Amino acid sequence: MDRTKSDNMHSVAIEHLVGGVNSPVRAFKSVHGNPIYFDKASGAHVTDIDGNVLVDFVQSWGPLIHGHSHPEIIGAVHEKMLNGTSFGAPHLGEIELAKKVKNRFKHMDKVRFVSSGTEAVMSAVRLARGYTGRDLLVKFEGCYHGHVDSLMVSSGSGLATFGIASSPGIPNDTVATTLICPLDDIEAVEFLFREHGDEIAAIIIEPLPANNGLLIQRSEFLSRLRSLCDDHDSLLIFDEVISGFRFKHGSYSDICGVTPDITALGKVIGGGLPVGAYGARDEIMQKLSPLGPVYQAGTLSGNPLAMAAGAKTLDLLDEQAYDYLEELGAFMEERVGSVLEKHGYPMRLVRMESLFWFSPGDADPAIRADHIPKDAGSLYADVHRELLDRGYMLAPSAYEIGFLSTSHDESHILGFVEALDDSLSNLDWS
Ligand SMILES: *Cc1c(COP(=O)(O)O)cnc(C)c1O
Repeated sequence: MDRTKSDNMHSVAIEHLVGGVNSPVRAFKSVHGNPIYFDKASGAHVTDIDGNVLVDFVQSWGPLIHGHSHPEIIGAVHEKMLNGTSFGAPHLGEIELAKKVKNRFKHMDKVRFVSSGTEAVMSAVRLARGYTGRDLLVKFEGCYHGHVDSLMVSSGSGLATFGIASSPGIPNDTVATTLICPLDDIEAVEFLFREHGDEIAAIIIEPLPANNGLLIQRSEFLSRLRSLCDDHDSLLIFDEVISGFRFKHGSYSDICGVTPDITALGKVIGGGLPVGAYGARDEIMQKLSPLGPVYQAGTLSGNPLAMAAGAKTLDLLDEQAYDYLEELGAFMEERVGSVLEKHGYPMRLVRMESLFWFSPGDADPAIRADHIPKDAGSLYADVHRELLDRGYMLAPSAYEIGFLSTSHDESHILGFVEALDDSLSNLDWS
């Protein structure tokens, strides 16, 4: 597959944009080659500037649950756009999307819209701290919550500890407000609560961790987090920026049977436009300005185009859409599983409805970050390159998950499985 124009464009891009990109995951640093410059996209396909057509399993990293340029979503945005792109004032679209969100997230009495997942999480954390009057947060190694200062913290060497900044530029005082635990380790969380229980504002977790592999948690673990929070008057924040609206039977909290206090959303609720949201019961949301003292604002918050894209996206997510995604996911899981097995390639496909991940190694898939085999990156990079050359695009990192959309069908999966079979035959890996 010829990517000369993309490669040339990359040498132009690096003159003007840092590393040629506006978000580091796009840089292809952990796989071979340069980023690919897109020209257009429709349904399951993207077309790059060399004219190559690729089947896309990245789907803008999650928002596009109906694929690229869905005509009804584009139509809804277009119609709104003719009336203005931003009001900076209330409008009906905000109420409409808030109702749809509440319909799905029953524990939310009120919703606040923002413009990204990062902003949603950052604001949820401020609200939790403002509500409890406490500073400390508990977060889990391997969960990503956007590039929020107090959440860009990882464990150093110790187990349940204060963490270390995962980027320069984060003040030590900020890092010192975040306690880090491994996923699936209830003793570690209990220890933190014994030591600091009356200073902990909130536990924040992706209930379905999906930014460092797909690490499906035991529901007993999540429910123990709930009871620890209850015992210490701390809040439980679920970051459902990826998992929100991915499941037929409600939110991930419905699936695991654990109700959080505050939920952060993003990705799917914007249907491909920049939207984030957070919500909770009234007692908590009333602390937020203009009703309460906790300040949070946004020039483009509740933007009419974004609200319209989100509302149409959620409308299209009826029961049939979810059934379809589950069927397609099961089909993919079975076919991909048998190809991996046939070649004895040390990878497993982990899947939950329309989300999937190539888990490295032959053992049972990891459910905590430090149990993911260390050679994950190299195993994946070769497969990624081979698949790309055959027209199938997965995320350019072993730790990122894949996304199915309602625009994918069995032919895309069969093509992918054939390309995978061919790729593995071509790789000299054992
Ligand atoms: C993507 C993501 C974020 C950050 O959202 P942005 O829109 O990229 O700022 C936060 N939390 C989770 C779980 C995410 O998947």
